[in-house]
Amino acid sequence: MTDLHRLSIREMSEGLKTAQFSSRELTQHYLNRIAKIDTQVKSYVTVTAEQALAQADAADGLLKSGMAGILTGIPLAHKDIFCTQGIKTTAGSKMLDNFISPYDATVVAKAKEAGLVTLGKVNMDEFAMGSTSESSYIGATGNPWALDHVPGGSSGGSAAAVAADLAPIATGTDTGGSIRQPASFCGLTGLKPTYGRVSRYGMIAYASSLDQGGPIARSAEDCAYLMDVIAGHDLKDSTSVNKEVDDYVAKLNSTAVKGLRIGIPKQYFNVVGLDADVKARVEESLKKLEEMGATLVEIDLNMTEAYVPTYYLIAPAEASSNLSRYDGVRYGYRCENPADLLDLYKRSRSEGFGAEVQRRILIGTYALSAGYYDAYYVKAQKVRRLIQQDFLKAFENIDVIAAPSAPTTAYKIGAKLDPVEMYLGDIYTIAVNLAGLPAINAPVGFDASHLPVGLQLIGNYWSEAQLLSIVHQYQQNTDWHTKRAAIAEENA
Ligand code: GLN
Repeated sequence: MTDLHRLSIREMSEGLKTAQFSSRELTQHYLNRIAKIDTQVKSYVTVTAEQALAQADAADGLLKSGMAGILTGIPLAHKDIFCTQGIKTTAGSKMLDNFISPYDATVVAKAKEAGLVTLGKVNMDEFAMGSTSESSYIGATGNPWALDHVPGGSSGGSAAAVAADLAPIATGTDTGGSIRQPASFCGLTGLKPTYGRVSRYGMIAYASSLDQGGPIARSAEDCAYLMDVIAGHDLKDSTSVNKEVDDYVAKLNSTAVKGLRIGIPKQYFNVVGLDADVKARVEESLKKLEEMGATLVEIDLNMTEAYVPTYYLIAPAEASSNLSRYDGVRYGYRCENPADLLDLYKRSRSEGFGAEVQRRILIGTYALSAGYYDAYYVKAQKVRRLIQQDFLKAFENIDVIAAPSAPTTAYKIGAKLDPVEMYLGDIYTIAVNLAGLPAINAPVGFDASHLPVGLQLIGNYWSEAQLLSIVHQYQQNTDWHTKRAAIAEENA
């Protein structure tokens, strides 16, 4: 079969169960595609062909014996931020080049237990800091819709791999938009769960109070399958929440779009830099939801202007603390011939970290320093609370909030050299992390250059099932999520 990569996760599962193809055939099909097509996309950091085929054979054994689970034998790619025992985990940084974790992240362990086959590890911005995946020390990844454009970031490799059909699903992480924005740039569906829904154990920390793992896939249905595997309480992560997990697949039709109240924040549609095509496509998608029975309600989110400054104090502050562990002593990159201990620290860190990571360590260290702590860090925490309250007030009157996922579509590699310009592009995604809320991106059409546009739906706490259900029903009534980039149509 040459078109196995066009199947949905449900169809793959059925095909494996009814022995239309084996997991080995399916896995080999993706490995062939990676070998042929990823030389152009550059989404993988590490391809684990041998282990993948061994996992596929084990899956085939389970399938034959009737012991298989729903996802047994289905391939996936992990963002290179999730620790994988025996396979290197770089977090896109020279600092962790050649780092092999002695244990699996909980997300990785759960995927293995479910019988999923790991194709490899995919590219990302260094330590997940960025919106383009260009800051990876390995180099940039191309957007499958236009290879000289960025796939978004920081989970750009995850999105590019799925959009080019080099993996049917991928894991990502979202600290300030890193699942939703690359999903938007690559025409995919991506879910950022409520903080505490997915374990952070073994997920290399960027900003611990904001980081959350989640799925990137073609459809809400595909995302639901992976969420059913990775969501849940984990004693190894003290911030993971012990709360019953929904059956996301079973609940795909559980939310009625008819009667749904969708909040449209006034402030979001007047943002300077919001591209006209993005605005138009998002508005069309909202019209479609309206036709399906939803009611659009204008709302106020008065704290919008505070999002970027607040996030860019809190995230770097936490990053500066988290990244202090990379000191050239215990593990990771160590400089050559250090003169003394201070020289070892200094040079290991300045040679091992890239420019953006160093910038954030400096910003964060400054914001946390004795003289400035109250003026910057404490103040940002107070504003963070106001941002959260702004959302909670809105949810008293509406069910979900609609917004673009990003003000623009994908831009050219190398186009955004000014860091502040890049930070401003995070305006629609970062407040969700500051508040700890769940949100989803769904593809809703294209701009004039045929680059994908995404709609973001933000839900109240623990409303993942509702978000997946709304997008699923939208996808039953539209076909944007089935559109494929030309490179994905190529056969290997
Ligand atoms: N673009 C944002 C940043 O650079 C978000 C990144 C993320 O979610 N990991 O921090």
